[in-house]
Amino acid sequence: MNHTFFDSDCIVVGSGPAGVSVAFALIESGVHVLMLDGANDADTTSRHSGEPWKRMLGSELEALLPEDGLSPKLRTPVSRQIVSNFQQACNVRGEGFVAIGAKERGGLSHIWGGLVCEYDAGDIEGWPLSIKDMRSSYGVVTNRIGVSGSTTDEMADFLGRSGTILPALPIGPSAVRLLERYRPGSQGPEFGLGLARNTILSVARDGRSACDLRKDCLWGCKRGAIYDARFDLKELKRNDYFRLLDDAHVVDLRRVRGGWEVSTKDGRSFAAPRIVIAAGTLGTAALLIQLLPNAPAELPLLSSPAMAMPILVPARLGYLPPEKGYSLAQLVYRLRYGYDGRDFVTGAVYEIEGLPASFFTARLPLSRRAGTEIFNFIAPALLVATGYFPGTQSDNKLRWQRNGNGISVVVRGGVKGDLSTNVDKVLRRLRKIWWRLGGLMLPGASLAQPGTDAHFGGLFPMGLHGAHGTDQFGELNVAPGVFVADGAALPTVSSKFVTLTIMANADRIGRHIARAHRAA
Ligand SMILES: Cc1cc2nc3c(=O)[nH]c(=O)nc-3n(C[C@H](O)[C@H](O)[C@H](O)COP(=O)(O)OP(=O)(O)OC[C@H]3O[C@@H](n4cnc5c(N)ncnc54)[C@H](O)[C@@H]3O)c2cc1C
Repeated sequence: MNHTFFDSDCIVVGSGPAGVSVAFALIESGVHVLMLDGANDADTTSRHSGEPWKRMLGSELEALLPEDGLSPKLRTPVSRQIVSNFQQACNVRGEGFVAIGAKERGGLSHIWGGLVCEYDAGDIEGWPLSIKDMRSSYGVVTNRIGVSGSTTDEMADFLGRSGTILPALPIGPSAVRLLERYRPGSQGPEFGLGLARNTILSVARDGRSACDLRKDCLWGCKRGAIYDARFDLKELKRNDYFRLLDDAHVVDLRRVRGGWEVSTKDGRSFAAPRIVIAAGTLGTAALLIQLLPNAPAELPLLSSPAMAMPILVPARLGYLPPEKGYSLAQLVYRLRYGYDGRDFVTGAVYEIEGLPASFFTARLPLSRRAGTEIFNFIAPALLVATGYFPGTQSDNKLRWQRNGNGISVVVRGGVKGDLSTNVDKVLRRLRKIWWRLGGLMLPGASLAQPGTDAHFGGLFPMGLHGAHGTDQFGELNVAPGVFVADGAALPTVSSKFVTLTIMANADRIGRHIARAHRAA
């Protein structure tokens, strides 16, 4: 098919954090953008509204299911619905792997934890770009989405300083106890601890309210204090260069003269000189793998193996739970466990206010009833710390096969052989550190099922020569004009939270496409 008319200068597939970041960079340079999203504005949260118990637990009490390897965030009815809609629509499933993706306006940012940090030069070693290429994009994204935290404590450099950081919100009393006893360097140079950096507003702006510490984060912030890509979509829609189509689930791409044509499940087709795929790492794989000539039967998928550990702060036993707070991360830590520059764990510490008791009772070596009673007594003194390992410790394989007119994707979860040794080493070290800071690590620390982290990457890596590689701007080697702007293009995944890097990289890719568009 020869196109004499294109629907837009650029088509962006996906309305999540990556899609909106690329779109802003394009429209600001006068490039017309048509965004196609498989979802529509009907809000999964509102479909799960109504009586508060239904919103929190689900009409079939599914959030109370016994331990199923999912994080509390993933167990909410809204999260379950978003992920299962994605798996069905994109024909993606996991074997020993939680295949997380979104078919949802705003993508996974509708349910995410909002903890952000920048990668540094060490984290992007081997990428076909320098950290300088990323810094201005980190700044642009940070300033747009609103990030609060500290710029002066020990973790500030580790988390990055490219944008303006809003004042930190007050942290909960148990987290305060740990932090008060910590002195930078006191636990060795391998360890650092400081305030978390969250995309949660401590100051009202852009029509969003500041957090009022109502402890409702887990069930969706009604005030708009926690960043959701939907806020960006609202802003984008005000711009004449931007158009967003509902229920446009893309199933196919094909080359046309001067560009590409995409087809949607409901039979529509749209063409543009350039296509940006930002469907979330697994959604992007489901779309693009069929474009690869002689596509390999399997591709390695990086993820960030994650663990969780309950910590009791005995000095807080007997206190009433605080009346105010927020359930996003309170503290963030790093711990080096090996000699390679990438061998470090990044983790966060959460107050457990607002989490269902079942999440803990399932982890305690007690009956459910005894566990619940103990939980109610110790809850005000309880913290949960997470720990994420770098992608080098994952060993997942993404396989695909033709299935009628489409394809189906299966991710088989796995971890590297030395992960359990490293987990033991890290837990031994953390047990001592928390103890010195006044925290007792309880039994029940566990490694989550691969995929639970949702920090995916490495499928179409920037800088890789070969069929599934992309250039330094995410342009597919075998399909010039098709760009990958989400986690799928990241060559490596560090133990740090990945989304700010996905967004900054998408901004950088958008600026490159805008330059190319102007030059043409
Ligand atoms: C419970 C949870 C907590 C998290 N917490 C954090 C955190 O604290 N910090 C952090 O850094 N990261 C966190 N993450 C990860 C973060 O949410 C993702 O990295 C981020 O959302 C990825 O953005 P994306 O735009 O690449 O993809 P997504 O957010 O997955 O968005 C994909 C978009 O593409 C659309 N789409 C998919 N397929 C198609 C198709 N075929 N056609 C058209 N549209 C399509 C979807 O509707 C959606 O709009 C968390 C994730 C989860 C699940």
